[in-house]
Amino acid sequence: MNSEESFFERDLVLIGAGHTNCLFMKMWAMKSNPSLRVTLINPDPISSYTGMLPSLVAGLCTKADAQINLFGLCRAIGARLIIDSVEKIDRKKCQLICKTGRIVNYDLLSINIGSSSIPLINGFKEFGCSVRPLAAFQERWEKFLQSVNVKSPPVICIIGGGLASIELSFAMDIRLKKTKIERFKIKIFERGKAFGKLSSNQQRYLKSKAKLRKIEIIENAIIKEVLNNGLIKKNGEFVHADFVVSCIGPNPNDLFKTSKIENKDGYGSVDKTLRVIGFENAFAVGDCANFPSQVVDKSGVYAVRQAPILYKNILKLSRNEELVQFKPQSDYLKLIVYDSTSAIFLRNGLAFSAKWVWSLKNFIDKKFIKNFKKLSEMITRDMANGRNNSKKMLCGGCGSKVGNVILESSLKKLSNTKSRHIVSKIGDDAAVIKINSSFQSLTTDHLRSFTNDAWLQSKITAIHALGDIWAMGSAPNFALTNIVIPESSNKIQKRTVEEIIDGANSVFMAEGVKIVGGHTSLGKETVIGFTLGGFSKSQPKTVDKACVGDQIILTKPLGSGVLLAGEMRFEGEGQDLKNLFDAMSRSQSSIAEVLSRVANAMTDVTGFGLAGHLLNIVSKSNVAAKLFFDQIPLYSGVNDLIAKHIRSSIFDNNYMYSEKVIIKTTANTDILFDPQTSGPLLATIPIGKVRGVITAGKELGFECKVIGELTNGKPYIEVL
Ligand SMILES: Cc1cc2nc3c(=O)[nH]c(=O)nc-3n(C[C@H](O)[C@H](O)[C@H](O)COP(=O)(O)OP(=O)(O)OC[C@H]3O[C@@H](n4cnc5c(N)ncnc54)[C@H](O)[C@@H]3O)c2cc1C
Repeated sequence: MNSEESFFERDLVLIGAGHTNCLFMKMWAMKSNPSLRVTLINPDPISSYTGMLPSLVAGLCTKADAQINLFGLCRAIGARLIIDSVEKIDRKKCQLICKTGRIVNYDLLSINIGSSSIPLINGFKEFGCSVRPLAAFQERWEKFLQSVNVKSPPVICIIGGGLASIELSFAMDIRLKKTKIERFKIKIFERGKAFGKLSSNQQRYLKSKAKLRKIEIIENAIIKEVLNNGLIKKNGEFVHADFVVSCIGPNPNDLFKTSKIENKDGYGSVDKTLRVIGFENAFAVGDCANFPSQVVDKSGVYAVRQAPILYKNILKLSRNEELVQFKPQSDYLKLIVYDSTSAIFLRNGLAFSAKWVWSLKNFIDKKFIKNFKKLSEMITRDMANGRNNSKKMLCGGCGSKVGNVILESSLKKLSNTKSRHIVSKIGDDAAVIKINSSFQSLTTDHLRSFTNDAWLQSKITAIHALGDIWAMGSAPNFALTNIVIPESSNKIQKRTVEEIIDGANSVFMAEGVKIVGGHTSLGKETVIGFTLGGFSKSQPKTVDKACVGDQIILTKPLGSGVLLAGEMRFEGEGQDLKNLFDAMSRSQSSIAEVLSRVANAMTDVTGFGLAGHLLNIVSKSNVAAKLFFDQIPLYSGVNDLIAKHIRSSIFDNNYMYSEKVIIKTTANTDILFDPQTSGPLLATIPIGKVRGVITAGKELGFECKVIGELTNGKPYIEVL
């Protein structure tokens, strides 16, 4: 479902990318209701499938096998993804207050925020690691493995003696041995009796299996404190530990309590239709809900089974129809990875392990993740066959710019615009008008949507547009907005325009820029633009004053074009995209100020790529450039996508510059022609000033890199 084809009337917001909400979205992709705009809010760009966690910990599968990339899932259904966490639900205003301070409006809600495993033990928050959220745990586990010194055998202590802890212990045991760490200890501490919820036969069986693997289970052990090197038990005994993991719980997250919503012990109380009691337009599902039946425990199985009911009931509620009930099964099969070839079967009091159990578990788990992969494959196939809106293949951001070669030839018509007040030339980042003794810089920029989140698009577009003013060494002071949004109900239009203004203001207010006017209209897709004014007392920086011997400096990595093009094709890692959006959202005003004091020439690298913007400097300054290719910083994930031949829409146009680029390296140099949205500043600086710039940049949190130098010669770039 493409958001551009829909007429949205109301907002459905999914809080948390738990199993139920993810499956709901998959179902939505097949038979969606185009009048509901779907938004997913989750703190991470991925969702971990619980069934695959042990295999991931054990190193028996890859992250891609065990995790759902939420950027891809949201793109598949035309949903907005907001990377944030909801701290409070304001029922009166129908608003969600997020951790970053962002406010999101809703008409319908599905809450699927799981549970936590953080114990109220002194020192745990500083020195311990909770198994939930699963994705964060996986990161910590990998870091721990990298830090292990084989000479001093590591001790892992797990707090909580339930099924999760034994499953995790077996998985850790497999991985440590696989990593050639032969000497280690795994200890499980249980305040009562381990595996207390299982039959005595199953308890005995699991304990015997743990013994075979030398996993120690210590019962009736209450942990009082966690230190940086171990644990203290209630009886005062100290136990050394190198990695402390909590598998207690589940414990409720705070959201229901802080929002004063009907809950039992912190879990949202729902009726049999999964609707939150006393809350007309909200459902709660998975671990965070308290279902009115004893049989439903906090397990991924129930979260998965609730998805079709949630799907039906959201549709029914939006049509004012009677809701259906969730009928939980009374028992379910538990399958636990034991080693790399066998798994343990637990059901109806039975317990045994076998190779076929491992195959069964592997089949079930892989099928779950495959469902999501199939969805993106199906859409990609449709796009390639032209069945899906072909415009979707046109990149967003700067990837959809008109190429410079076309632009240059059209702009020749403007040669009669000379005036004594205009001190800039075509090719400078902004127009400069001299008024008495001061200089007014003027620029305009707009971006086609590269995300369904208009707030984020607006924020990044504001930073992107400011790049031109910063590159001139000017201080921005006013902005005019140009907004095109798709047709939708008045309510959604109002919310969207407000989000765009909020997103822009989150940047402009910090920069001292006032929005003083603008224009809005309805159209086929979201396009956000800003016309900006900047002020300076001295002549602004231009691109024609670069000197031989100058060092070429870049303020942030390259690769936004290829990463965004990959995202459109469901390629690339969620975390890489999140990192990219964070970097694109960051102001460069502080580093621009440092650079403008010493740079001979400056520009921002945007649609025409590094080669295009550097060629602009060398041709206007009449110098040549040498680029040290392996010094060019790239965003994580860029090389993988380049290796898959993923390129932005404007790539071929940008590649026309290659006739002025002499490539002497054997590396793939596609990145030189990759368009950048909210890209780095590129400055040419006298060699004696470089160290000072790099040091100042570090203090401001910028990794400025010297990527080349200017030499005598014709305006060519030599890539070494
Ligand atoms: C080691 C281990 C092994 C397990 N093995 C199994 C198993 O084999 N089978 C099984 O059925 N169960 C298993 N479980 C239990 C299972 O993990 C949970 O029951 C299941 O993950 C619950 O799913 P959920 O859909 O409720 O939420 P989750 O999958 O926990 O997802 C909740 C999501 O909400 C997000 N979130 C949290 N707070 C907020 C907020 N305020 N705003 C926005 N987003 C938020 C989280 O980051 C997360 O992405 C295991 C648990 C552990 C710890």
